[in-house]
Amino acid sequence: MPTSIAHVFGGMAAAEATTLRGRWSDTRVLLFFALVANLPDADFLPGLLVGDPVLYHREGSHSLLAALIVALACAGIAAARGADARRWFSIAFLVYLSHLALDMLATGGPASSTGVPLLWPLIRDRWFVELPLPTPLAELLDLDLNKTGPGGFFPALVSWHGAEVFLGHALLFAPLPLIARLIRVARERLGDAAGWRPRPRPRRVRPLEPDPDPVD
Ligand SMILES: [Zn+2]
Repeated sequence: MPTSIAHVFGGMAAAEATTLRGRWSDTRVLLFFALVANLPDADFLPGLLVGDPVLYHREGSHSLLAALIVALACAGIAAARGADARRWFSIAFLVYLSHLALDMLATGGPASSTGVPLLWPLIRDRWFVELPLPTPLAELLDLDLNKTGPGGFFPALVSWHGAEVFLGHALLFAPLPLIARLIRVARERLGDAAGWRPRPRPRRVRPLEPDPDPVD
């Protein structure tokens, strides 16, 4: 399972496809990525209250419907603050989707094949993509937080192996935003060279007023 650090880098890569590109140095923007990119895993919280952190994990919060609701909420907040609601809708939607996409990656480790219920609540099947990783690498990247796993939730999270997994994910996923940026820049340059750039939308011009005092 991708850890929170992996989701931050995934969210930054997704944001490269939006109009927020190139603003990673803005602390507020980074906090926004970190929050929205990890929001689906807030489903650990209700389970924590009843003593089983994974009880509700990877259910409705890991669906396209949840992505839509969060994006609409962000758009509503943006509109209330006088910002561009459509822009913030697309940013939040893509960043949230990045979490679902990373959680779909199954590395073959003990907790990796759980997938995500993308079409919840209509279809509860879990979707995942199996990565053909060698076993040592799969184990290095996989953290089993399931209560039935060895050690249970918190011991697994703060274990030596937990630290290895976080470090492994930081190294593995850190290049994602850079790769996304390189792809975007290459596409823009190719588009410029081939003249593919969309023409700017013509501005609406008010019809000319009739001359009040025509000169014959
Ligand atoms: Zn998740």
